[in-house]
Amino acid sequence: MKKYTFSVPKNNIDHVNNFLYEFKVADVCVPPIQNEKQFPRTQKKNRHCIFCNKSYGETNFNSNPHIISKLLSLNHGYSNLECDDCNSYFGNLENDLTDFLGLERTLFMLGERKVKTFQTSQDAIIAKSIDRNNQSGIEITSNTKLEVIASEDKNDFILTYDTRPYIPVNVYRILLKIALSRMPSDYIKHNRPLLEFVRYNKHNDYYKQFAKYVFKCSLPVELRRPYLMIFSNQGKDDTLPEFIFSLYFKKTCLQVIMPYVLEKGLKVNIPLCPPMIIGVHEIEANVVLENINLSSSEKTVEKKKVRFQFNNKNTDSKKEDTKFYKSVDIGSLFINRV
Ligand SMILES: [Zn+2]
Repeated sequence: MKKYTFSVPKNNIDHVNNFLYEFKVADVCVPPIQNEKQFPRTQKKNRHCIFCNKSYGETNFNSNPHIISKLLSLNHGYSNLECDDCNSYFGNLENDLTDFLGLERTLFMLGERKVKTFQTSQDAIIAKSIDRNNQSGIEITSNTKLEVIASEDKNDFILTYDTRPYIPVNVYRILLKIALSRMPSDYIKHNRPLLEFVRYNKHNDYYKQFAKYVFKCSLPVELRRPYLMIFSNQGKDDTLPEFIFSLYFKKTCLQVIMPYVLEKGLKVNIPLCPPMIIGVHEIEANVVLENINLSSSEKTVEKKKVRFQFNNKNTDSKKEDTKFYKSVDIGSLFINRV
């Protein structure tokens, strides 16, 4: 495996050490963002799709399925384990991922070639790329009123909005699909029902138990390229899950417990890994992992908060002390990258 250097927020070092006492890094996958040749592909005639369990001859392998969806971050890391049919099936499923990311997706596309407009029903909120005074940025407007609170010095704004409706368990299935593209072949062989859950929405009740324990944190730095990590249990405590998967893109890290055979109900008593950020960074912030439940198969509208800071302070993602924040009456917000 290639060697990587990781940085960890200062206040999370003990936590990371405790985690790495139980789990070791089994895989780090950093897809190239330009040169495709760095990422080898097997010949089509040797390919087998792990999701529908068909080989070349029974299905086609003409497309370039991304391991980490390009919806999350531009990259050229392609999978050898996914056929054209499955790729187009997952492409549809990603609509739920788009709506789950909501406004964040538009905001973190800032600086990329094409910024997607974000628009909720009845135009309650619209975020789109515009140029203002020769600076390109994102303008957020509403046809009613933006729900914004701001700190007294007006450096810090928190916007609350409703996402478009999405199906949480589909977001979970997409996260598992990304992980499965890199899981050890033994795991794939022994978890056929899991692949059927991801590809055919079968065995829902069983796997939804795990979907309750997805963890999210905001990164104190913004990543130029996405990556994923797989951790495996070191074997000191076999009541812990066998594998943990984490996915990094832009300013987000998502973590998932890879499903395993449950004898009793799932009890999550381990705090998952605080962010391990590739490269050398001086990170003061104390990053908190937030548990999100992606088990529902009903269309859901979520109230989300986005925070904007207009000073370049090293930010702390601890729960902000909002008692000094006041509701502000503004018609639009303009965010540009410095
Ligand atoms: Zn397939």
